[in-house]
Amino acid sequence: MVIDLRSDTVTLPTPAMREAMYRAEVGDDVYGEDPTINRLQELAAERTGKEAALFVPSGTMGNAIAMLTHAGRGQAIIVGSESHIYHYEAGGASTLGGSPMWVLPNEADGSLDIAQIEAGIADESDEHVAATALLCLENTHNRCGGTVLSLEQMTAYANLAHQHGIAVHVDGARIFNAATALGIPVSKLVSPVDSLMFCLSKGLSAPVGSLLVGSHEFIRRARRTRKLLGGGMRQAGILAAAGIVALEQMVERLPEDHENCKQLAQGLADFPFIEIDPTRVVTNILIFRVLDPDKKPLGEAAAQRFLHNAQAHGLLMGTMGGGKIRAVTHYGIESHDISVTLTAIKRALADTFSA
Ligand SMILES: *Cc1c(COP(=O)(O)O)cnc(C)c1O
Repeated sequence: MVIDLRSDTVTLPTPAMREAMYRAEVGDDVYGEDPTINRLQELAAERTGKEAALFVPSGTMGNAIAMLTHAGRGQAIIVGSESHIYHYEAGGASTLGGSPMWVLPNEADGSLDIAQIEAGIADESDEHVAATALLCLENTHNRCGGTVLSLEQMTAYANLAHQHGIAVHVDGARIFNAATALGIPVSKLVSPVDSLMFCLSKGLSAPVGSLLVGSHEFIRRARRTRKLLGGGMRQAGILAAAGIVALEQMVERLPEDHENCKQLAQGLADFPFIEIDPTRVVTNILIFRVLDPDKKPLGEAAAQRFLHNAQAHGLLMGTMGGGKIRAVTHYGIESHDISVTLTAIKRALADTFSA
């Protein structure tokens, strides 16, 4: 038995999802005729408190559609230095949309500095400068360790952006984890922003798909962008059926993942050769470093050796580069797996330093 904490994307569809997929009523969604997709989009709009929603093949495409729809060619997009959009989406906004990314440093908790955003916003008055069209936020923040932006922070960012006539998009791949950690409905958390992408295929355990939500007018234009990118699918209600189960049944179990992650973080904090701040761990992601016997953090190559040793003890985790290691809890990981995980890490540490 392998414990796979590389990502919550490794989750498999639940029996209820398989059943719903088998029975799904379908039609041609490019004609708007797939009843299951239409139902999923209505449900997503309702849960997020937005006017409309669009089913898209992936989170990456959902973010790309949002950026291309909000920002025209040559209009700048403000993103965080640790954001998924900047690191892991092949530069889509710039390569496909012709939008330069204006990169601001993320704080350790995934937030951006309000004064730096204000200073980074440009209008069209100076011909040298690309005018800003969009501010992108990420909640929860993946590379910052699943950290959460509060409703107050989201509101402050949105107010500032809107004062300058700039739209706000949230990369909310794990927005349901954020709302769960805050104890508020997602609709409230995203009420200040213009658009949101969230993934069905992460902690919500659906096999494929994400949703983009926003105003009727935004989603109408986003549909055209989706077509441009080749994301118009046909009888994809088979996939949407699993998404409906995800929204109806898998949100309420997220506290389990957060509790397991916290247990793991607290266990690791007791290890002398692990560097972690367990107070930072508030959702289903934790990031730590391994320290060598001189208490210096391992570099990337040594961290890879440690991961390899963990794998030999039946534990899979991922690397974030620079010696940082990520573990993600999810559906299929039970609380007793956490003690097994801690034992495997202890053994992998011993192997790493005895070699
Ligand atoms: C996974 C992820 C995405 C992209 O989703 P894919 O479906 O893998 O393309 C975007 N943003 C964040 C923060 C993510 O974790």
